[in-house]
Amino acid sequence: MAFKLTYATMFNPPEELHKGFDKAVAKLKDNLGKEYGMFIDGQDVFADEKYEDRSPVNTDWVLAVMQKGNASHAQMAMEAARKAFPAWSRTPWKTRVKLVRKAAALIEKRIFELGAAMALEVGKNRMESLGDVQETADLMYWSAQMMEENNGFIREMGKDPLVGYDATNISVLKPYGVWLVVSPFNFPFALSGGPVGAALVAGNTVVLKPATDTAWIVRLYAECLRDAGFPPGVFNFVTGPGSTLGQALVDSPELDGATFTGSFDVGMKMYRDLANRNYVRPVVLELGGKNPAIVSRNANLEDASTGIVRSAFGLQGQKCSAASRVLVEEPVYDELVALLKAKTEKLVIGDPTERTTYLGPVINQNAYNDFKNFCEEINQAGGNFLTGGHVKTGGMFDKGYFCEPTLVTDLPYDHRLWKHEMFLPITTIGKVSSLDEAMQIANSVNYGLTAGFYGNAKEVKWFFDNIEAGVTYANRPQGATTGAWPGFQPFGGWKGSGATGKNGGGYYYVQLYMHEQIQTLIKPAPVKKAAKAAKKPVKKAGKKTAKRK
Ligand code: NAP
Ligand code: MG
Repeated sequence: MAFKLTYATMFNPPEELHKGFDKAVAKLKDNLGKEYGMFIDGQDVFADEKYEDRSPVNTDWVLAVMQKGNASHAQMAMEAARKAFPAWSRTPWKTRVKLVRKAAALIEKRIFELGAAMALEVGKNRMESLGDVQETADLMYWSAQMMEENNGFIREMGKDPLVGYDATNISVLKPYGVWLVVSPFNFPFALSGGPVGAALVAGNTVVLKPATDTAWIVRLYAECLRDAGFPPGVFNFVTGPGSTLGQALVDSPELDGATFTGSFDVGMKMYRDLANRNYVRPVVLELGGKNPAIVSRNANLEDASTGIVRSAFGLQGQKCSAASRVLVEEPVYDELVALLKAKTEKLVIGDPTERTTYLGPVINQNAYNDFKNFCEEINQAGGNFLTGGHVKTGGMFDKGYFCEPTLVTDLPYDHRLWKHEMFLPITTIGKVSSLDEAMQIANSVNYGLTAGFYGNAKEVKWFFDNIEAGVTYANRPQGATTGAWPGFQPFGGWKGSGATGKNGGGYYYVQLYMHEQIQTLIKPAPVKKAAKAAKKPVKKAGKKTAKRK
């Protein structure tokens, strides 16, 4: 590949990118339906039960046959990770950095094949599919870079001012042990690879469990790690239902730490389950969002409407960062609403592998049913459908889970759907009489993931000062609330959206995967030797002790 997909090429893709992607889709479509194992202790492992992983674009397409792993596989994987931990944790951090970089480079090399598989399995449009893959490599490079910039997190502290003693104090961040990573369907690559890369570079061994709907693409991620040559057991990959295999991983006595990205309810259950253990283990939780976009009377409405439509309907609204609430000041309400309607009506729904498609299908039958139920509920509550409100039918649409991009006005603010994460292409728009009212509504949810604002410079400062969210954007047409990119926007949430307060891809992230040990050494004073040993020169003995450190 002659170019690198970057934040800039995402918005202005070269022709070569389209050709590479089209070729990869055609090739992949000729090779669908193969069986893939789990990957435990360096080996492919097959379960007695299997399942067909079908495409939400066309449910006739069996993409892959995957393993329905159970509790015994969970145990096997956790034990393999335990066995591999001592050697991996003692592997020099520079060697770990090298291997993580090697895996990231393999991901980049396979970007078209991986992007094509992503579009077919998740229903993501082509640019978003390629973006998810590239972002994964970038997150892994970032963790490697952080290890390097911090010299492996080995750092000398001050010397204690003890008269007559020579003290050395070294702070070392060390890996915890066996780290579980559970990823969601919507960013199956980045939200597997970001945490896995951080855990591995820090010296933990890893067990990765993807969402059942997106097990195939994560298996292809696992193959990048396999081919990079991590020692057996350092990285393990298991597939199967969250409620059985997933729960067995959480309950495993081998677990020393975990990263979960997914819904609030499942994440909080994991948190509570782990709280019942004999001691506290670290849990990195990245949960849902109900992200507001606030539009002031002083906003550039062109930019605001472009950014909001992108963030409301990218990946069919199934982003934790989706703009699901829009709050508009009264004087510009009608104009903004008209622009939102016009821009949404131009969005193309269809096969996500096709170049012109913006919205693909939603992930599965449950999401599709939810969409219909939410629309019915909105209708009953007196909401007005500015656009959408229906699933798409006829022709290819009857084969997959296609839903119209739906903008709703006039839903009373006290309706539960103003606070509930629908995770679908449905966004509610409300009128406010002041920015303070908008802020009060914006912050009155349990979540605090992303937020967007459009207005003048003074208002922007007010917005950053008052909004309760971990990722915030002002005046951004590329996306009101979405489109964080490693190296530019570290990603994480406040309140019910996340547990650590430190964002992925940021300066404080890889440290979450390590615990600190302070090593204090006092240089031994000359020892008064017993008569027999008295002849040994004291100086030499001192040197030897120092070396042993
Ligand atoms: P989900 O239903 O909570 O599932 C997430 C993962 O948890 C899946 O791998 C699932 O496996 C597994 N799981 C389910 N029950 C489990 C259990 N008892 N023990 C262990 N694992 C279990 O979420 P999703 O529908 O895939 O993803 C959408 C959610 O993720 C949204 O709420 C979204 O906001 C959130 N999200 C947050 C971020 C962020 O960075 N904050 C990013 C992306 C997505 P199965 O698939 O087998 O059930
Ligand atoms: Mg599927």
